[in-house]
Amino acid sequence: MFDSSQPADGVAVERRSPEAVFALLGDDIRVGIVRALGETPDEAVPFAELHRRVGVRDSGQFNYHLGKLRDVFVRRTDAGYELTHAGRQVVGAMYAGTFTADATVENVPIDDPCPLCGGGLVAEYADEVGRIRCSACDAFRNEFAFPPGSLDQFEPDALPGAFDRWMRHVLDGVVAGFCHLCAGRMDGRLVVDPPEEQIASLPAHVEYECARCGSVARVGPHGPATFHPAVQGFLYERGHDVRTDPSWRHDALGLPETTLRSTDPPEVAVTFGDERSSLTAVLGPDATVRSLERD
Ligand SMILES: [Zn+2]
Ligand SMILES: [Zn+2]
Repeated sequence: MFDSSQPADGVAVERRSPEAVFALLGDDIRVGIVRALGETPDEAVPFAELHRRVGVRDSGQFNYHLGKLRDVFVRRTDAGYELTHAGRQVVGAMYAGTFTADATVENVPIDDPCPLCGGGLVAEYADEVGRIRCSACDAFRNEFAFPPGSLDQFEPDALPGAFDRWMRHVLDGVVAGFCHLCAGRMDGRLVVDPPEEQIASLPAHVEYECARCGSVARVGPHGPATFHPAVQGFLYERGHDVRTDPSWRHDALGLPETTLRSTDPPEVAVTFGDERSSLTAVLGPDATVRSLERD
């Protein structure tokens, strides 16, 4: 599962086995060192100060464990010790609560109506998945992993907006071609759906798959289309900022109409706007915008 391919010329990459890397953290003192460096992630910490922060009396023992982390999670500079990229990721995971927290949030009502049926929208959270769904129809439903450690940073009534911004943030990285879980390469592809498998009557969906860890993200074709600057500008001129306004309100401007242009190779047209003026983004097999049509 882990990529051992050769990097391009001029790129030096030394890979260690994940077993060896994670085994390094199987010790309270080492986790304490990483956590202590994470208190000031942008500053190198001198040895004596780091020793004081970790609070281990035996300096030989402290030194031994610090040495074990060197060049994997911790690096030494002239000014002291600092976290490597992997070390920062470990601290980030501690804050995100990915490995530790367990939280549930029940039905937080959203003021705006379901863009598909006009019913009531709710946000909820369970098993580390955030969900924005319509309580009246099955068609409007967004589900995505949300870090449990971020939940208590928001009041309940701010959660739906936070969920939505997080979803867009994740999608931003995915559309740019990076896995939200492992930072591996992700490629998109347009998948045509037969009528019995369609969600919200969409004739196709976009699937992004990570070439490294295999994780998959699924989104409607209008998702990647809203990252195109022409589409963002078109919606902005109509009073909607896709970067800050909740996605369900964006849909309320008139759900973009999605039509199948070709099955093989797959091609769909996503039309924003109304009869008076519209912008159509045409997506090709790799789920990128091929062309734009104004009407
Ligand atoms: Zn609905
Ligand atoms: Zn991945």
